[in-house]
Amino acid sequence: MAHTEKPTALIMIFGATGDLANRKLFPSLYNLYAKGKLDKFAVVGVARRSLTNEEFQLRVKESVTEHGEAEANIDEFVSKFYYHSHDVTDSSSYIALGKLAEDLDGHYGLDGNRIFYLAMAPEFFGTIAEHLKKDNLTNVSGFKRLVIEKPFGHDLESAKVLNKQIRTAFSEDEIYRIDHYLGKEMVQNIEVIRFANAMFEPLWNNRYISNIQVTSSETLGVEERGRYYEKSGALRDMVQNHMLQMVSLLAMEPPIKLTTDEIRSEKVRVFRALRPITGEAVNDYFVRGQYGKGSMNEKVVPAYRQEEMVDPDSNTETFVAGKLMIDNFRWAGVPFYIRTGKRMKAKSTKIVIQFKDIPMDLYYKPEKTVNPNLLVIHIQPEEGITLHLNAKKSGQGTDATPVKLNYANKGIDGLNTPEAYEKLLYDSLRGDATNFTHWDEVALSWSFVDNISEVWENTKEPSFPNYESGSMGPDAADKLLEKDGFFWWPITEIDVENC
Ligand code: NAD
Repeated sequence: MAHTEKPTALIMIFGATGDLANRKLFPSLYNLYAKGKLDKFAVVGVARRSLTNEEFQLRVKESVTEHGEAEANIDEFVSKFYYHSHDVTDSSSYIALGKLAEDLDGHYGLDGNRIFYLAMAPEFFGTIAEHLKKDNLTNVSGFKRLVIEKPFGHDLESAKVLNKQIRTAFSEDEIYRIDHYLGKEMVQNIEVIRFANAMFEPLWNNRYISNIQVTSSETLGVEERGRYYEKSGALRDMVQNHMLQMVSLLAMEPPIKLTTDEIRSEKVRVFRALRPITGEAVNDYFVRGQYGKGSMNEKVVPAYRQEEMVDPDSNTETFVAGKLMIDNFRWAGVPFYIRTGKRMKAKSTKIVIQFKDIPMDLYYKPEKTVNPNLLVIHIQPEEGITLHLNAKKSGQGTDATPVKLNYANKGIDGLNTPEAYEKLLYDSLRGDATNFTHWDEVALSWSFVDNISEVWENTKEPSFPNYESGSMGPDAADKLLEKDGFFWWPITEIDVENC
């Protein structure tokens, strides 16, 4: 599909006084505006409290100034923002919102195009979608699109219910389910690294790759999200969406074209090939952890069970490590290890592709073998690629020594790459759904994850808390790899900046 490069639309943000709108959406929209990427547009902020347009515009201006770089045109930008105080269950409020939308459409010449961005708690998604249809807001002459935040359901069953509700008002290709990892520069780069280089794709299989490790570690604890997190845990919050999405991009077959449908259908095939882990096997393939107290930046931090809104006897995991097997020709026998957690030693998202050892090590010394080749994709905070090779140690002799070829994205461009939200907002405005999750991916990833949560929820983990804040997770996560003859590549030693 050809995408409009300078889209025109009315953008309605539900939850416009919330944290996400304030930290991400307003600054991202401003960046698009400042770069000249928007044609005609207006924004309606929708939330519960009562605010005037002027008060709302001031908040938007403050948000852009605080989280981005506001320039002289900021006043013109915020003049396009309107506010509607709203009760999500009240039809008359939707009818008034519809009237405002029509007025703005006429005033700004927005061609009847509407984006409904739901930056609100997920329990409202279904109600809002149903009202949008019933109260006539989706009856437009242009395009209508629903952009929806995670979590998409709590398990497969609830995700199906939610999907059914939103499908009453929007077709699948009008639904843009956000997984903000898919907006990250280096996650999008996985495809380019794989499919635009002659040297990787021939090696990208079980003949040459021994294992793949995907780590996404946070230093923050649960903060003020205890109420939500208690019901979610790391498996639902991180694995079902972000971690599995990264695995699908690493494992998928080359699409026949770079179109949304072709890429998504290759990703779906990966999810279909994921070996289901059920019952007792869960403990062989997956490890759960919960942080205890510890020290971060020389400050003592509390255990998860001591956090606000958390049960003092909580069984919720704040860390997950797992071994995924993709049972197809390309990947048979290659473990994909994933690990994610809160209160870990460093904030880092990295992918390590470890290649198999050479067939005969000519450089063998009893105390030293040749290091395996690694391709490291640094997703955040630093962005780049490092290729670990072996070369001759300079000077006498023929000893091999590890060397690193390094590409640091930010260092080269000299510019900050656009935020994930900026890219995803732009894609939703242009009608490019490639970097959003299709329902088939959501359903398959929930069915994979549900098998694991079923076991974990029904067995209390006696060892909790089982890792110290500021560590790399429980010992069992190391054992998961040791039993296969591998180990986690330490995330700090393979930093792009250390090279
Ligand atoms: P928030 O609690 O800060 O904001 C919620 C917003 O919803 C507020 O504007 C509030 O006025 C509005 N609201 C609540 N009840 C309402 C009602 N009955 N009628 C009308 N408006 C009502 O939440 P948030 O952190 O901005 O998160 C919003 C969504 O985005 C959630 O689904 C969350 O999981 C998701 N999300 C947030 C972040 C983030 O960084 N904050 C990141 C990823 C996903």
